[in-house]
Amino acid sequence: MKIAAYSVVPAEKPYFEQWSKDHHVEVKLISAPLSSANLAEAADCVGVSVQQPSTLGGADFYQQFTQMGLKYIGVRSAGIDFVNLAECQKHGIKVTNVPAYSPRAIAEMGLTQALALLRKLGEYRTEMAQGKFSLNPHLISNEIYNLTVGLIGLGHIGGETARLYRALGAKVIAYNRSHKVEYESVVEYTDFDSVITQSDIISLHTPLTSATEGMIGAPELHKMKDNAILINMSRGRLVDTAALIAALESHQIAGAGLDTLANEAAFFRKDVPVDQLPADYRTLAAMPNVIITPHVAFYTTTAIKNMVNIGLDNIYQQEKN
Ligand code: NAD
Repeated sequence: MKIAAYSVVPAEKPYFEQWSKDHHVEVKLISAPLSSANLAEAADCVGVSVQQPSTLGGADFYQQFTQMGLKYIGVRSAGIDFVNLAECQKHGIKVTNVPAYSPRAIAEMGLTQALALLRKLGEYRTEMAQGKFSLNPHLISNEIYNLTVGLIGLGHIGGETARLYRALGAKVIAYNRSHKVEYESVVEYTDFDSVITQSDIISLHTPLTSATEGMIGAPELHKMKDNAILINMSRGRLVDTAALIAALESHQIAGAGLDTLANEAAFFRKDVPVDQLPADYRTLAAMPNVIITPHVAFYTTTAIKNMVNIGLDNIYQQEKN
């Protein structure tokens, strides 16, 4: 058996090599994302292991895929929206994904950013760079167990996030589309509006859908407490960026931690000259009460190992059965 792995990054290589050795399966490592242009590199393979973002192509791609004798597309992460499932069904191509490679990784990044914002580390860094070391009455903090944390979306990541905040003694309230009994011991279920108006930390964990796009806009930001910290580890387009900038500039809310931005595809995962960065990114990045990370909340050794191992296992198990 042979599998071609595309979009392979250096951090994944040792895990691919170990899995290959353990399973006696040859895995061809290719750093470029899979497309029609490099599909031929998967000749003699049973399937491909892929990662987003990839642009697979139209109907021709899936026809060529089948003609080459390839049977499986194993996505190494949760999102499979870049795969044309109708074409796969038509050609009998089996598609698998890794729905939960490490929810804890993303939950910990959200918590890390929230605590850094709560304790005003950015503001202290700015003050100290100016030689200001005296107690600033504007920079006094609260402690997490006095606070209410509101979660919107209580799935794999929202659930782990709830457990972390509960472990620190915070009151955790949550709004989710459906009631999940498994989180009853760590959250109080409530409605969307109560999360917005009552929370000191608001953490977003829904997928991006037509129902969630722009769910945090000017009206929601206006209703938040003036000490509220907004955490978005999910998808940039859940938040209206212009409205967020306005709310931060007018001190309607206290801060924001963002691992995703609405326009991130233009510059995240790339090296970009600083003067070519989007204006909204530069405005946010210059604020001491904002933390931006380039969609790396998932990027831990545990998550990378699980993406590789579970992604390859999914292909291997199907071929063996
Ligand atoms: P999940 O499917 O386990 O949970 C999503 C939850 O949102 C579900 O409980 C669902 O019921 C709820 N939901 C969906 N639509 C809703 C709506 N309109 N209103 C209220 N609740 C709604 O997904 P997950 O694994 O927890 O991931 C959540 C999101 O996190 C992903 O969709 C993705 O966008 C993002 N993510 C980010 C990173 C990162 O590195 N920053 C990594 C992985 C995932």
